Amino acid sequence: MDSLEKSNTPSLDSYWMPFTANRQFKASPRMLVAASGMHYTDIDGNKVLDGTAGLWCVNAGHGRKEIATAVERQLTSLDYAPSFQMGHPIAFEFAERLAAVAPGVGDQRLDRIFYTGSGSESVDTALKIAIAYQRAIGQGTRTRLIGRERGYHGVGFGGISVGGLVNNRRVFPQLNGSDHLRHTHDLTRNAFVKGVPEHGAELADDLERLVALHGAETIAACIVEPVAGSTGVLLPPKGYLERLRAICDRHGILLIFDEVITGFGRLGANFATDLFGVLPDIVTTAKGLTNGVIPMGAVFTSRNVHDALMQGPEGQIELFHGYTYSGHPVACAAGLATLDVYMSEGLLTRAAHLESQWHDAIHSLKSAPNVIDIRTIGLVAGVELSPREGAIGARAYDVFVDCFKKGVLIRVTGDIIALSPPLIAEPEHFNTIVEVLGDALQKAA
Ligand code: PMP
Repeated sequence: MDSLEKSNTPSLDSYWMPFTANRQFKASPRMLVAASGMHYTDIDGNKVLDGTAGLWCVNAGHGRKEIATAVERQLTSLDYAPSFQMGHPIAFEFAERLAAVAPGVGDQRLDRIFYTGSGSESVDTALKIAIAYQRAIGQGTRTRLIGRERGYHGVGFGGISVGGLVNNRRVFPQLNGSDHLRHTHDLTRNAFVKGVPEHGAELADDLERLVALHGAETIAACIVEPVAGSTGVLLPPKGYLERLRAICDRHGILLIFDEVITGFGRLGANFATDLFGVLPDIVTTAKGLTNGVIPMGAVFTSRNVHDALMQGPEGQIELFHGYTYSGHPVACAAGLATLDVYMSEGLLTRAAHLESQWHDAIHSLKSAPNVIDIRTIGLVAGVELSPREGAIGARAYDVFVDCFKKGVLIRVTGDIIALSPPLIAEPEHFNTIVEVLGDALQKAA
């Protein structure tokens, strides 16, 4: 294929790219034009191994014919239908199928499902459901939302209010009263651990501090990512989530797990909820829900939360909330086909079988220059680098650019490299990632 300069690529002026240094990118663009299985093809015809499942979403790999066929069939039968006061069967069918694999512990599943169009919408929906639930049970003073430092919950005003990333917050106002638990990242006690770290369960007690500070009667919900992804793959210390659950129970606070990344097999179980055996009241999802091919999110709630909101006079709208694209028929078709692929290929648990090889491969980078921590779980890894003096993120960015040139797509956040290959990956792909990343780390030293 022609290079970017020679091809018919449009001008780069009009498109304002998200979460991108636009001027830097447009000075030396990286363009992807095709994808199949574990690989992208760039605009020069080079194959690029997808070390990140797109943006943590293409769990079943690229170019899945089963999903494309289902989408095409749906497009030509019912392309769109409103979902306010109207229904279409595939939205109900998909919810029923999702309910069977919903986040759960023992025989309790969060099998009441509200559709959204993205992870950010799922988060804002979950926060609104939590506040509406508290009001419905006579706890209308509970409107405060608690997140956690270094949490990422998308870019809606709800999400940035509970999120804990300064760059997402400093320019924009946030919801009144939101507050944050301390993060659990601890390089002094927990560096280079495979799986969940030993130390730090007591950090959950920070919620008691916020209860003492604000009063439990003001707090609606506490939201955390079971494993924080976008902020650098931060794992929950052993016992932390159980402790958080117990504190929430003690004080009537709803617990929300943001499983936009950890849902649909990323950690080797259907959801982090199942893996850690801690049942929240609400779980947010998106990304792997449709293998990333059609934008869609879903919020899973307990029957308790759902049923509390279904009270009131017959005929009234129980929750004044929803999106034009909630339950979009084409997204539902993509989601159903994705679920079929996950089930028939055992992808929701495949990461568990590959985990020890993944651990070993990624931890072999321990002695590479400037690596100060490696964290792995399921098919996720965070490789943390010491920053270059005075230039936070610059070293990791160089590594990212170099890996791309050498045919491997990684992701960087600050000076942390995040890896999350599609769940169809084979150990040979792990080796390629490690080889290319190891070279790039040497070069960036
Ligand atoms: N929550 C989490 C945990 C996420 O990782 C993300 C996206 N990376 C979001 C929410 C937001 O999802 P979206 O970009 O689809 O709005």
